[in-house]
Amino acid sequence: MEFKLVYSDVYLKHEPWFHHPENPLRLKILFKGLEKYGLTDYIEVLEPEPADWSSIYKVHVEGYVNYVRRLGEHAPTEIDPDTYVSKGTIESILYSIGGLLKAYREYKNGRGRRFFVLTRPPGHHAGRAGKAMGAPTQGFCIFNNIAILAAHLLDEGYEKIAIIDFDVHHGNGTQEIFYNEPRVLHIDFHQDPRTLYPGTGYPEDLGSGKAIGTKVNLIFPRHGGDDLYEDFLEIALTILKQFKPQVILYSAGFDAYFMDGLADMKAGSKTFHLMASKIIEELKPELIIASLEGGYSVGLEKGAPAFIAGLLGIEDPVGESYKSSIRVRDYFEKKIYYPTRRILNEYWDIYKL
Ligand SMILES: [Zn+2]
Repeated sequence: MEFKLVYSDVYLKHEPWFHHPENPLRLKILFKGLEKYGLTDYIEVLEPEPADWSSIYKVHVEGYVNYVRRLGEHAPTEIDPDTYVSKGTIESILYSIGGLLKAYREYKNGRGRRFFVLTRPPGHHAGRAGKAMGAPTQGFCIFNNIAILAAHLLDEGYEKIAIIDFDVHHGNGTQEIFYNEPRVLHIDFHQDPRTLYPGTGYPEDLGSGKAIGTKVNLIFPRHGGDDLYEDFLEIALTILKQFKPQVILYSAGFDAYFMDGLADMKAGSKTFHLMASKIIEELKPELIIASLEGGYSVGLEKGAPAFIAGLLGIEDPVGESYKSSIRVRDYFEKKIYYPTRRILNEYWDIYKL
């Protein structure tokens, strides 16, 4: 099969001992959604193997990795009030990163071209040394799963890697890690950082040195719906077509789904389906590997199946779409959409859109 879901019960071992939204139940909700929307029969599950620590040291500084390893020995404990380390956390981390690396090996052996790894804990807020870009906490993330995969692909000789992050929060760790790296195009869709953790990721943040223009922050006002996502997806596609990535990686978070719980966006299943289907239709990528980030309730139940259906090349089985109010749409166009286009047009040919 072209598509494989990478999962192991080890991913349930990262488990809080107090009430916390990032808990093993999340993956059960996701599987319930796959069943509810009739996708189970289409899906082959691939068992991951653990990564070794060397892949992590490639991205994160030695002192921080050693610190986390020591915390693992003293679990249960926490890195900060948002980010816990349970007895099974380290094992879950190694199998999550191992799952991403295995997806790539599987592709190289001709056994699939589209993969979604149900990584836990999530990773996109983790910078080189933990907290990224002055964030107050690590936001449930310990090591940056998708960045570790991207670093591995750079070592394998890839020169054009695109990371599409549609989690509702800014992927500040990923942005920090690759800020000076022109071979990584990072397009991040997120709620306006003035209204949501971690408070970073503005359209003016474009990368530095030779990498300038390769960091793209597309932000949404609160209560924005699928129509706003469609507008920015067009811009993302315009940039992607010019960058010509050899591989598409996703930081796949589903917390922008209407009423998912931790944010204020109104995305429906349509957005998550388009994030896969439009990219496949218009770019025809050779390889796609997605890593799970956020999503805490309905986003996992409905958004994740819609995204997976997109990866499978079938229609959105959920069929939910939400339109922004006229007031929100008006604000978006005047204050965000057109100014962002102007900024990006300095580096990409946007106006031909
Ligand atoms: Zn998130």
